[in-house]
Amino acid sequence: MAIIGFIGLGIMGRPMAKNLINAGYKLVVYDKYAKFDDLVSLGAEGAASNKEVASKSEIIITMLPNSPHVKEAILGASGVIEGVKSGSIVVDMSSIAPAASQEVGAALKAKDVVFLDAPVSGGEPKAIDATLAIMVGGDKAAFEKVKPILEKMGSSVVLAGDLGAGNVTKLANQIIVALNIAAVSEAFVLATKAGVNPQSVFDAIKGGLAGSTVMNAKVPMILDGNFKPGFRIELHIKDLQNALDTAHNLGVPVPLTASVMETMQALKTDGMAANDHSAVVRFYEKLAKVEVRK
Ligand code: NAD
Repeated sequence: MAIIGFIGLGIMGRPMAKNLINAGYKLVVYDKYAKFDDLVSLGAEGAASNKEVASKSEIIITMLPNSPHVKEAILGASGVIEGVKSGSIVVDMSSIAPAASQEVGAALKAKDVVFLDAPVSGGEPKAIDATLAIMVGGDKAAFEKVKPILEKMGSSVVLAGDLGAGNVTKLANQIIVALNIAAVSEAFVLATKAGVNPQSVFDAIKGGLAGSTVMNAKVPMILDGNFKPGFRIELHIKDLQNALDTAHNLGVPVPLTASVMETMQALKTDGMAANDHSAVVRFYEKLAKVEVRK
């Protein structure tokens, strides 16, 4: 059984690494800032650098915040590229810019290492339950090799296309989620201001065409006034910035994405960057001077 290196043990990476250990894999783990004694006590080997992780594994998984962190961990000083063995596969599960995935992939290719981008959707609860949706870009043979490992962390593992396609798919996902939250927020603020009970609105429409996974997950949080993350607004801003940059480089105007980005920027200025992205409703609540609560 291949030894798996796991780099980035934050909100998502830690439970994902635990699921691999529970599935019987031998792991070598490292995080630059967070402690990982809990994983070592479960049987993982702790490393002192990204380079050491790479030198001791055949498959290396990264789960880091954004493009600069992935470039630093893989291509930077004491990075994966300094220790990685020829023939290894590096799977980056972070949500980053597709162009950054392609840049890292080209650098690793020169070392005879295959790079896959494999971002996830589902958040911390699905990382814990191993039911993430995983969208992959890159070489098909490498994908088939790592698929059984990815299936220990997710319930859906789909090869979307060439390198970068995983993160393009994730950007599409993040645009749809952000706009869906904004639409739900705008509509529920209107209904509440009109004097209709928002719980009744939810009950009446959730089974119809307007219903969505986003509505089912976020409306109960909004009705409770619970904006604990979940998925932080600052992370969604990061994803929307990657979406805007990617779209503009391709010559694709994305006016609705730009609009919801400005809503999230306003919330950040208002001190809500660390709130769940369902707090988008608070932007609309402030404009209309009404609160969507039970
Ligand atoms: P996080 O900030 O909790 O974890 C990232 C970890 O990376 C941190 O522990 C940090 O110390 C470590 N790190 C940073 N730079 C490093 C380096 N150079 N070398 C080694 N370790 C380094 O973030 P998270 O919530 O786990 O998210 C990870 C990725 O998954 C992000 O791209 C995010 O957008 C995506 N994602 C998150 C969620 C969610 O709900 N949190 C859902 C889907 C996707």
